[in-house]
Amino acid sequence: MIAPALRPDIVPALELENVCHRYGRALAVDGLSVSVAPGEVVCLLGPSGCGKTTALRLAAGLEPIQDGVVRLAGVQVAGGGVDLPPERRGVGLVFQDYALFPHLDVHDNVTFGLTGWTAADRRSRAEEVLELVGMTDYAHAFPHELSGGQQQRVALARALAPKPRVVLLDEPYSGLDARLRDRVRDEVLHILKSSGSACLMVTHDSEEAMFMADRIAVMRDGKIVQQGSPIELYCEPRDAFVASFFGEVNHIDGVVHRGSVDTLIGSIPVRGLIDGATVSVVIRPEGIHLRAWAEVFEDDPTGEVEQARLLGRTSLVHMTVRRREGATDGNGDDEPLHLHARVPGVFLPRPGSKVRIGYDPRLTFVFPA
Ligand code: ATP
Repeated sequence: MIAPALRPDIVPALELENVCHRYGRALAVDGLSVSVAPGEVVCLLGPSGCGKTTALRLAAGLEPIQDGVVRLAGVQVAGGGVDLPPERRGVGLVFQDYALFPHLDVHDNVTFGLTGWTAADRRSRAEEVLELVGMTDYAHAFPHELSGGQQQRVALARALAPKPRVVLLDEPYSGLDARLRDRVRDEVLHILKSSGSACLMVTHDSEEAMFMADRIAVMRDGKIVQQGSPIELYCEPRDAFVASFFGEVNHIDGVVHRGSVDTLIGSIPVRGLIDGATVSVVIRPEGIHLRAWAEVFEDDPTGEVEQARLLGRTSLVHMTVRRREGATDGNGDDEPLHLHARVPGVFLPRPGSKVRIGYDPRLTFVFPA
């Protein structure tokens, strides 16, 4: 299925085209193009300093445009001599440094943007959004009386109150504790989906991006390196950087020989790389399958358990895998491998015990080294 923002018959609610931005001589955003369809949630995901916030600030009008174009519902709001100020773009903003009005209480902060609403509608909308973010009891508090996380929740309520067509969120849940974050982000997702607002959100947390996004754009050094649905990025990463951004991974170095790479955990098929190419095999910990000692057969790849820890819904098993006596791994490499396997439920083999190792090809990727 083609993502809505990529369909030619749908006018994106928000579009950044070939946007570049420099701070002094440093290029923070480098030819970035991304669009968000009405009702779609797109996440910019990437490491600290890759240019996510700058891209969002350019979309909001908080940073003057230097190069490229920003459009809202097909109308150019920045670029080519145009640069509409933030308050005239009609987008909901939650930025890390986008402070609340200090002289207004929470209720008045939230209703500030509700121009043209009746007093009764303003009041009931404020109650609705404050309840959403769990701040009903603080309606008459001033920003300086709130914690950082509480201020962030009010900022979120203020952004959503006018039911904007486009919402820009920069790490909107970073100040919330884990339980509150789960609840607020779940509700925000439902609100965005039921309101039909388009949302461009910035995060460095892949799980958060997967929770919120219809589409994720992974950024590195000011550029988008891959964009697609969460499942595309998780199951078909284009390089080791993207693969490792979605959680810790195991790396095994190897060399292609007759269409596969021989490793201590077996022969892994390779497509599109010539014999002799050095490669990096990346396996997600949940892509490593383990069986207990009783089921180990002599020829199976085996590992020796170092540690096993219960992490809640999964168990994490640390193992060492060594070359079997007399066997060759095809690379002449005798270095033992240290692998992590993530197993559903409680699976806690004793340190020193042996486990049989298999891998899931859908969670195993081979990239040129
Ligand atoms: P983080 O996740 O840490 O917030 P980010 O991906 O959002 O990072 P940006 O804040 O967009 O990244 O910064 C991109 C680059 O631009 C960084 O190298 C940063 O140091 C630089 N930068 C950001 N703002 C400014 C500024 N006002 N002046 C100079 N350099 C800046």
